[in-house]
Amino acid sequence: MCKKERPYQYRERNVELDADRAFRFGEGKISGYLSVFLGALSLLAVLAYLFPSYLTTTELRKAYDAESLQQVLKYGMYFSLFFGAMTHFLKKYRRLGCTGMLLTLIAFGLGGYTVPVGPVEPKSLSLGVDWLILAFLGSALVFITLEKLLPKYKNQVILREEWETDFFYFCFNHLAISAILIYANYHTSHFSWAVSGSFQETIQSLPTIVQFAMIVIAADFVLYWEHRLFHEVKLLWPIHAVHHSVKNLDWLAGSRGHFLQVFSERAMVMVPLYLLGPSESALNAYVIFAALQAVLIHCNTRMHFGVLKYIFVTPQFHHWHHSSEKPAIDTNYSAHLVLFDWLFGTMHMPTQHWPAEYGTTKPLPKTIIGQLLYPINALKNRTKNEEDERVN
Ligand SMILES: [Zn+2]
Ligand SMILES: [Zn+2]
Repeated sequence: MCKKERPYQYRERNVELDADRAFRFGEGKISGYLSVFLGALSLLAVLAYLFPSYLTTTELRKAYDAESLQQVLKYGMYFSLFFGAMTHFLKKYRRLGCTGMLLTLIAFGLGGYTVPVGPVEPKSLSLGVDWLILAFLGSALVFITLEKLLPKYKNQVILREEWETDFFYFCFNHLAISAILIYANYHTSHFSWAVSGSFQETIQSLPTIVQFAMIVIAADFVLYWEHRLFHEVKLLWPIHAVHHSVKNLDWLAGSRGHFLQVFSERAMVMVPLYLLGPSESALNAYVIFAALQAVLIHCNTRMHFGVLKYIFVTPQFHHWHHSSEKPAIDTNYSAHLVLFDWLFGTMHMPTQHWPAEYGTTKPLPKTIIGQLLYPINALKNRTKNEEDERVN
């Protein structure tokens, strides 16, 4: 007789407040970190103004006005000095304040916000310093505010364990934007045989919103299967496991990913965009939507989405994807819409519950180098285990 399986017992996640890492008003820690971050970003921005061919992104330069952004830089530099002085005055975190002020003073020494803006000679390969600064300022402002106003786990702090690791990945993914685009374009060029001019003309004649919907569906189909392969092909899993090794989800956590995954994911998703050949406005709308959703779904937020949660991938949906609990393993692969998980039977969305645990069932190295080498070491261990099994 077949024994009836007991329903899974969901548990509440318990997040204790880490008092050493928490920000408290009046100590100087908040102003100290603000001074350091603004100082570092200011210095990077000044370097980008000095060497735009090497430190800015050709595709992104068209989207902003470098002269207007110098005003933002000006306020960033003054605020860094202001917060640095405030930290110095509050004493406890003086070193942070001094570091922030020093970085800003170096930025001033290099020309500050008055470096002349001229024509830029485009280089095929450059570092996306501009992309890093704009994405960091925008994401930190929007998503930290969201996480503070509507937190899922109130006790989870901004500088939670391993935030430095994820911040490194955030920087790498943005700085490498031009290398990623070069690789993605090269990869896409292999599909030129499938391009149809008349098909693309028909697509472009459709209203922008329809084109946008078509891109989202086509991109998500590719992303779903690419993601599923990363989970279900044994050789690929150790690469993707790096993304899953994060134990506390927030706006920064989604940045963690092995560079092999980052490059292949971007290259794969470019294929349907290339074949559809939509209008620039529809494509831009998709790029913004995809970038924001990728951060949002990792956020520590209980924000309600109403009926939208039955259409789009939400934080709760993707948090389940990151859970190490049994019913959630290898589920919720979609990046944009819940459609393909629902269609292919991989959806796990107990609407009343959130995961109690995140991460991988087997622990991964905590260092960046360890994570970078993890796929090779996992393969070596697998081969060794198979050999041992054969000998025994
Ligand atoms: Zn995954
Ligand atoms: Zn994720």
